[in-house]
Amino acid sequence: MGESTDSVYDIVIIGSGIGGSTLLNRLADSGARILMIERGQPLADSADARDSQAIFFDGRFRPQEQWLDGNGELFNPGNYYYLGGNSKFYGAVMLRYREEDFGELKFDEGISPAWPFDYAQLAPYYQQAEALYRVRGNEGEDSCEPSGAKGYVGPAVADETDIAGVRERLHRVGVRPFSLPLALDIDRWLARGNTPWDAFPDTGCGKMDAEAAALRPVLEHPNVTLMTGARVRRLHTEADGKRICAVELERDGEVERIHAGLFVLSAGAINSAAILLRSANAQCPTGLANSSDQVGRNFMNHNCSALLAVNPLRRNDSVYQKTLAINDFYLSDGEGGGPLGNIQLLGKVDGCMLKANAKAAPLFAMNWLARHSVDWYVMSEDLPSPDSRVRLDAAGRIVLDWRRSNMQAHRKLLKKAKAVMRAAGYPIVLSQPFDRRTPSHQCGTVRIGNDPASAPLDPYCRSFDHSNLFVMDASFLPTSAAVNPALTIAAQALRVADHIKLTELTQ
Ligand SMILES: Cc1cc2nc3c(=O)[nH]c(=O)nc-3n(C[C@H](O)[C@H](O)[C@H](O)COP(=O)(O)OP(=O)(O)OC[C@H]3O[C@@H](n4cnc5c(N)ncnc54)[C@H](O)[C@@H]3O)c2cc1C
Repeated sequence: MGESTDSVYDIVIIGSGIGGSTLLNRLADSGARILMIERGQPLADSADARDSQAIFFDGRFRPQEQWLDGNGELFNPGNYYYLGGNSKFYGAVMLRYREEDFGELKFDEGISPAWPFDYAQLAPYYQQAEALYRVRGNEGEDSCEPSGAKGYVGPAVADETDIAGVRERLHRVGVRPFSLPLALDIDRWLARGNTPWDAFPDTGCGKMDAEAAALRPVLEHPNVTLMTGARVRRLHTEADGKRICAVELERDGEVERIHAGLFVLSAGAINSAAILLRSANAQCPTGLANSSDQVGRNFMNHNCSALLAVNPLRRNDSVYQKTLAINDFYLSDGEGGGPLGNIQLLGKVDGCMLKANAKAAPLFAMNWLARHSVDWYVMSEDLPSPDSRVRLDAAGRIVLDWRRSNMQAHRKLLKKAKAVMRAAGYPIVLSQPFDRRTPSHQCGTVRIGNDPASAPLDPYCRSFDHSNLFVMDASFLPTSAAVNPALTIAAQALRVADHIKLTELTQ
């Protein structure tokens, strides 16, 4: 395969998150010599993995890394470097983009552009991704559910008693709550302890994350090699700048170069863009894959708020709370206006998490609040803009200059959500926007498109500039939609892997 004669590997994949590991899972049986390079190490179990204080106050699992924001302020990002990437901490909600998300959508503050292909292209891969990640869900409940067979391996995770009550009250006020599709083995998760969920690390305890569901099952293939603790610094091109010839990485204090025929960059939307920019050379002075000048641009991260619906007279004793969502305002505000977004339950919050966001508040008050709140995640689309971007400063540090968009729709969605919760019997409704330092749903920085002048990647995630380079992680997403991104990343990774098999591995 490829044209390289000095290849040690046929394919190098950089990064073991949802994008890299899902792609590896599909390519492993091809017989191609594949090297997966991961900066982090496997996440070991520890008491801290079950400790809110360690996770939310002490930042025990956050990286020893500082980025700059658009104002030049340093911050420690909530971006996780372990085998399996950010999915080790994810909420495992596996929702498909809506069919309408693949077309152009109009918002008061701008346009969400059409994808270079429609939903039907991805539908079979969504089904395969659902099966791979062992997603559990119920068909036919979601008010704007996309068409096509689902790959669910079983029925949705059941509501705990207090959440069944919430579902009932929501039905009564006329909204249509549906069961969240989840990549979760609930019995294994609860067997580890009565811990909450979102942002809690998975140490082999029930989250179907990239490592558990996609990577581990294919490591026994003799043609697959995993290298951890290896941080990629840059990619090198051949003399004419047209093909990638090597990856340069740092491992145990040593710098190494590894040659291959084909390279897949899957380091996450922020780091993949940074690696491409950092790899600038005489032939590609603005960075690799960047003749369009779009690498790093169009950064999106969703507009999200936490919403606590409180009834002082009703306790919420749920342990695993995250089983419900509402899409009634996804495609329209219900009054003839534009799309607003998705509302889904968070993992149950506890007093310690609340205090981490309100340091002056006494812990006993936060514990009381957490015992009486039903906790929601309110999410609206972030629209692509060339000015919202990842770049490097003169010292090579990552600058994340995120320009939020579409906040009018987000504010409307919050207003709707609050009205629904009050009607459903929660007289106190509190909300707080999610922290800018946590780019949980980062995407869009190396987008796909049909036109090399406006997109770095073709619709199969191949670089227009370098025919042996693919970028397969959240950076390919041309729009963020208003649902969680992981299933769409996984579906596209399977589609891209099939394309690589067809075009690169059949000679
Ligand atoms: C707390 C939290 C909750 C979330 N909940 C959900 C949810 O419920 N549903 C959902 O769909 N999504 C959720 N997400 C988002 C989801 O986890 C991500 O969209 C997805 O994991 C992104 O996958 P990726 O492959 O793009 O990148 P990543 O997961 O970022 O993987 C990139 C990998 O590359 C490695 N890497 C980075 N730089 C280098 C380098 N220089 N050299 C070598 N390796 C490198 C990283 O260590 C990492 O393993 C959540 C995220 C967080 C943080």
